[in-house]
Amino acid sequence: MKKTKPDSHTNRNILLITYLMVGLFISMIGYFGYFLQVRGETVINNSYNARLDRFSDRIIRGELLSHDGRILARTEADEDGSERRVYPYGPLFAHSVGYSDHGKTGLEALANFYLLSSHMNLIEQTVNEFSGVKNIGDNVITTLDVDLQQTASDALGGRRGAVIVMEPDTGKILAMISRPEYDPNTLGADWDFLISGENTEAQLLNRSTQGLYPPGSTFKILTILEYIREHPDTWREYTFDCDGIYECGDYTISCYHGNVHGHQTLEQAFANSCNGAFAALGQELDAGAMHDLAEQLLFNQELPLSLAYSKGSFTMNTGADTWEILQTSIGQGNTQITPMHNAMITAAIANGGILMKPYLLERVESSAGEEVKQFLPESAGSLMTADEAEALSGLMRLVVTEGTGSAVRTDAYSVAGKTGSAEFETGRETHAWFTGFAPAENPRLAVTVVVEEAGSGGQVAAPIARSIFDRYFSR
Ligand SMILES: [Zn+2]
Repeated sequence: MKKTKPDSHTNRNILLITYLMVGLFISMIGYFGYFLQVRGETVINNSYNARLDRFSDRIIRGELLSHDGRILARTEADEDGSERRVYPYGPLFAHSVGYSDHGKTGLEALANFYLLSSHMNLIEQTVNEFSGVKNIGDNVITTLDVDLQQTASDALGGRRGAVIVMEPDTGKILAMISRPEYDPNTLGADWDFLISGENTEAQLLNRSTQGLYPPGSTFKILTILEYIREHPDTWREYTFDCDGIYECGDYTISCYHGNVHGHQTLEQAFANSCNGAFAALGQELDAGAMHDLAEQLLFNQELPLSLAYSKGSFTMNTGADTWEILQTSIGQGNTQITPMHNAMITAAIANGGILMKPYLLERVESSAGEEVKQFLPESAGSLMTADEAEALSGLMRLVVTEGTGSAVRTDAYSVAGKTGSAEFETGRETHAWFTGFAPAENPRLAVTVVVEEAGSGGQVAAPIARSIFDRYFSR
């Protein structure tokens, strides 16, 4: 049988249709590419945009991973298409990873745009779009370290408080703990209880960035810095005789548990955390200059932090009365600070005065493992001069070698730090603080600990920091 050759007119039509289809396909890919890369950012970044939810109708939320690739949050999809966010470590990362139902917090909020963006192969994505199959969102690798998070959690135990572990020279947050915690896997079922008035534990509050505490003696870092600024050449000559109770007019300031420190140089008074010496010294300071210093160290200021946080507060200023001066100089009175803010001051001292912006997002990868974006350390500016940072490092080293920080004294590595036992209500046990870094001469790790109503910083908080430093420097 003779085959009929299609005429040239039919050929042209087939060709035209083919070109049209190819053109349409290319423009669809182009459109999706444009939407995902360009429009997507504006749509997803606006958390109040109703289209956000529609976006998650098209993309399966990506995974959050620890810095060594362990899954901290993933989405499980059933055959019927229903999805569930799963947190393999349960409560361990509760506040740092956050949650994505009932609003979004922690990393789930911070990484939302990336988790709902997909850098799958564009042709694959386009085919999925046409067939109604969801694309797979990008994965976000965080700075979090499972091992250090677990160590910090174990050391804090069942006590209320917070721990932050940071690299001072990069700002990477390696661990961030807040207790009491909640289980993100059962958040839906627990929600009504967690937000009810009968629940007084505030499990949903991220104490590490939102919990405001009196800084107690950790604030002596600022008091002594102001004294050094006012007496740059003679500050080492200051001396004080402590008999356990410092009297000033009608007011008295006691050293912790009435300890009598005797004759103290300023270095000894700082190492032993002598309240009397600091209350006396505080009265010599220029209250207005002290106010400026506190604001330079981020009190009453926005913090360079992408997580939800509370601002530290400092009220003392020119014209303050004696009681406020005495209290403020030893970290009591109206002054309040979050553990993250204290960690930032500590990290800046460890880093020659420069504060690196604390961060949690390390990089973004497509579901196929291709790198999409890398986050780099960023400076948040200088909190003090390099000379001042060096002087404070030296003083904080003495706290460990000769003073209240003996729990972190070891031959294995050298720690510089400051303890604090902060009173917050008469008749109740003090909040225990420790903030410091190691190695003192070339810092790689900064650790800040607060334990609520737990007693002395040296006895309670410093040993928690010790566990973390031990773990970090032994691996
Ligand atoms: Zn004393």
